[in-house]
Amino acid sequence: MNPPAPAHRIHILDPATINQIAAGEVVERPASVVKELVENAIDAGAGLITIEITAGKDAITAIRVTDNGCGMSPEDARLAFVPHATSKIKTIGDLHTIRTLGFRGEALATIAAVAKVTLITKPKGSGAVAGTRIQIEGGKVTGTSGTGAPDGTSVLVEDLFYNTPVRKKFQKSRNTELAHIHDIIEGICLAHTDIAFRLSYNGTEQIITDRTSRPLDTIARLFGSSIIPDLVPLDAVLPLVTVKGYVSCPSLARKDRARLYVSVNHRFVTSPLINDAIKAGYGTLLARERFPVAFLHLTIDTTLVDVNVHPTKKKIRLSREKDIAEMIKKSVRDALLSHDLIPAAGAAPVVHPPGEEKPTAAVKTYTRESAGPPPAGVYESTHAGTLLTDQRLRQTELPVSSDLTCLVPSLLPEINVIGEFSGIYILARTAGDDLLLIDQHAAHERILYEQVTAQSRENRPSQELISPFVLNRTPKEAAVIRDLLPALASEGFIIEGFGGNSFLVRAVPVVLGRIEDTTIIDGIISDLTSEEASVSVSDRERITRIVACRGAVKAGTVCTREQCQRIVDQLRRAKNPFTCPHGRPTMIRFTRKELDTMFKRI
Ligand code: ADP
Ligand code: MG
Repeated sequence: MNPPAPAHRIHILDPATINQIAAGEVVERPASVVKELVENAIDAGAGLITIEITAGKDAITAIRVTDNGCGMSPEDARLAFVPHATSKIKTIGDLHTIRTLGFRGEALATIAAVAKVTLITKPKGSGAVAGTRIQIEGGKVTGTSGTGAPDGTSVLVEDLFYNTPVRKKFQKSRNTELAHIHDIIEGICLAHTDIAFRLSYNGTEQIITDRTSRPLDTIARLFGSSIIPDLVPLDAVLPLVTVKGYVSCPSLARKDRARLYVSVNHRFVTSPLINDAIKAGYGTLLARERFPVAFLHLTIDTTLVDVNVHPTKKKIRLSREKDIAEMIKKSVRDALLSHDLIPAAGAAPVVHPPGEEKPTAAVKTYTRESAGPPPAGVYESTHAGTLLTDQRLRQTELPVSSDLTCLVPSLLPEINVIGEFSGIYILARTAGDDLLLIDQHAAHERILYEQVTAQSRENRPSQELISPFVLNRTPKEAAVIRDLLPALASEGFIIEGFGGNSFLVRAVPVVLGRIEDTTIIDGIISDLTSEEASVSVSDRERITRIVACRGAVKAGTVCTREQCQRIVDQLRRAKNPFTCPHGRPTMIRFTRKELDTMFKRI
């Protein structure tokens, strides 16, 4: 038999235990201590903040943050370590207008609960000769004394988690923790370029930034000045949000989101919603799994921002988040499209190097189709071929509108075709004497893509085939096609089941025109069934891109100079003439100066 249960099993935890538990949320790791202390220094109005990290062989042993901010009186210094003691808010209502980074009054109390802390502080401009020193261990004050001190505050945290062995055990390697500290300090430096920061590690300076009114100085300090030419400035005042800062040209794109630095009302935050909105602003300028670099400051009415979502305050919640996301997307998009994004010769490639990512459908068709040695030079093609290409180009002409839109200036300069190379590249020049190499297929793909997306979103027009086309597929492919039938129908494909795993294609989107070559349809369906569905791109968007790719003049199709000029003229009318819908560049520029340098003329 079990012993009888005691009468009282429930008891209230003592304050020290409560604080240790709370510490689990606020102080996860050494980097959280750094973040809380630096935020306090910022809230104290500091102009210079110094962070000193000391580490032994495997772990960080001490963190000291020193500021020249407002400092504290002896009474405040004692109160600062009491749980829920704060000078920053009085009532919950104050949170609606909060301008400080802290407000929960728990950081110092929780850090002191799980470490040995020494605080030295002196109020600024008090004229007081002496400052205050307080020592706390595991939440208990072990010493208070007067001391000589400069204006401001210094907090030394040693033996973190000495009394919570489990938490200590879960700390990652020293280098991982240092990487986290770097991330946090970089984010904070970028959000507060008006403050100078110094981060040192075992006495060696790691990060040094100055107080500056030019955020680019801070960006260059942290990431090197070589990225500056690839940044596009952004300064948009929209109804719900002001967006200021820089986003990168597509050529700086990365495989992860690690270089998206966003602050909201000067708080460095991590927001998937905002990150997604920034990426969405690039649209087809970026390949699917690529992310830009961005340094953005958002100013949003404080009543729309809930900062009290998580104890570490790195997450925020936005009211009207859909509208705000839409505005961020728009501001990024407008900034990019008003910028000259033609990559210079020798610039980092926009596309993933081969092998790094699975090639997309577009890449597959992107090889020369004709056999034999690649022809070179300017040349004219056979009569029949020219007629066919002419027909394709006519069918896919971007409308030259009779109304005002033709007054919208092109994002590209005036371009004159010189000739063609290999049936793949168009050679052209600008009035400014730049040489352009234009990817014929990518350019036409972009034209078709914009033509399709300019049509109504609901049901895109289709064109009946002269004779229906029968598709035979494997059971697995047939299942994929069946799933996609509604999306295909909205895009203009009229396809019916034809028994078993066969389908009858009756009509295709108008942009494909009166196709005689049914292998295009076959190719579209193959691309659709072979490519994995994606969470970030809708089925309809995927179909549009594939249609644009398959419908476009193929690489290897030799075009006449007039046809090339036609492609270029159409491209100049595109809203985004710089990349194909998969994010690959449509053209590369060689300036006269670059060529002269290559030939050692200058
Ligand atoms: P919170 O920042 O949420 O108010 P903290 O526990 O981080 O809570 O700090 C408690 C209080 O101690 C702050 O409200 C502030 O008044 C004071 N304080 C903390 N750090 C500093 C500092 N570096 N300089 C001046 N005052 C500070
Ligand atoms: Mg704080």
